[in-house]
Amino acid sequence: LTEEESEVLKRIDREGIDFLRLQFTDILGTVKNVSVPAEQAEKAFTEGIYFDGSSIEGFVRIQESDMRLKPDATTFAVLPWRDTSARLICDVIDTTTGEPFEGDPRAVLKDALARAEKLGYEVNAAPEPEFFLFEEDEEGKATTNTNDAGGYFDVAPKDLASDVRRDIIYGLEEMGFDIEASHHEVAEGQHEINFEYDDALSTADNVATFRTVVRAIAAQHDLHATFMPKPIAKVNGSGMHVHFSLFTDGENAFHDEDDEFDLSEVAKQFTAGVLDHAPALAAVTNPTVNSYKRLVPGYEAPVYVAWSDRNRSALIRKPAARVPAASRIEARFPDPSCNPYLAFAVLIHAGLDGIEKEMDCEDPIRENIYEFDEQKREEYGIETLPTNLGEAIDALENDDTVYEALGPHVGPKFVEAKRAEFADYLVDVSDWELDRYLETF
Ligand code: GLN
Ligand code: MG
Ligand code: MG
Repeated sequence: LTEEESEVLKRIDREGIDFLRLQFTDILGTVKNVSVPAEQAEKAFTEGIYFDGSSIEGFVRIQESDMRLKPDATTFAVLPWRDTSARLICDVIDTTTGEPFEGDPRAVLKDALARAEKLGYEVNAAPEPEFFLFEEDEEGKATTNTNDAGGYFDVAPKDLASDVRRDIIYGLEEMGFDIEASHHEVAEGQHEINFEYDDALSTADNVATFRTVVRAIAAQHDLHATFMPKPIAKVNGSGMHVHFSLFTDGENAFHDEDDEFDLSEVAKQFTAGVLDHAPALAAVTNPTVNSYKRLVPGYEAPVYVAWSDRNRSALIRKPAARVPAASRIEARFPDPSCNPYLAFAVLIHAGLDGIEKEMDCEDPIRENIYEFDEQKREEYGIETLPTNLGEAIDALENDDTVYEALGPHVGPKFVEAKRAEFADYLVDVSDWELDRYLETF
């Protein structure tokens, strides 16, 4: 056992933990758990826990279904809403080779980080997930009725949810999250919680956990928390902006105090790489049919492939940074329905591609691009993101860098699952169509 693993065994004893939840995620980003009695902890560390991978979305074919979970001791956290249970995030091991399983999203992100390390970089990430809190009906089913009428940065009594948000934050902190800030978002019933930056793997682990924690604590208040990107038409949707920076030997490689934007050449090349691959990235960072209802002009969500040092209609923004360590870029297109491991992995690969190819970064756009007409957009050479999931999947399949970033297992499985999801949507007849046509024709 490693020192960290022995420490976990001691904490299990000391804190009276009865059950361990071994956590991992499937390709679609859904958190999966295997619960084992705490007495199994030592065995989980030394031998791993076997499970049948054939029942997990996109993992394996039935014929080769034995997988092993290898818990990462550094992720031990007691569940705040069930204090005799603790969770451990696991790597998935292929039992036939003993190697990390290529279909494990955590392994896909680790590959991206290994590439960054080869180039001399550590990757930091900080997300800003947004979500809605909705009331439940008498049967406990989620509605789309918001429980408050607050707006951006409103405080109680208008922000009735501040109690819930406080409980959520206490819960997250108990689990070891460093929360930077939280506030009421623009739409009624909409909230945002910002994480302190951390290495990209820990941050992805935290995002995966975050959704579970937020939902569990909201449910204690009889509310349903949703990370669906656009639950209500014609009001702001929920994004998950992600801030990235690369560090070399503890120094921020994105900072250059002599630059007009405090950004180094490396930061600009990374930005250029993300912009260059943006349409394909969208398939992973905005992976649902509903994601594309958010990416429309007028609701503070980006649509146009450009960067800016001030306005929020661009895909990438350079936030004001007061200290060198804070120089970073903010990718504004991801939404919280993404698989955080896969989304970070493809974004990092795209950025590194920009660095390796020394891509040129155009000047930032300072005007509000929402107000540009097509002619002006053409003049500036500004492209748009895919307008639906089908186009995004096409872009993914046509972009070798992004497709290969997913690895040989996840790439094809992801495309297959998302094509099926889009096909299912295309044959549906929506309420909008009935309202518009039923009595007209
Ligand atoms: N909700 C917006 C989005 O969809 C962001 C609003 C904000 O953070 N200012 O990205
Ligand atoms: Mg926000
Ligand atoms: Mg933001």
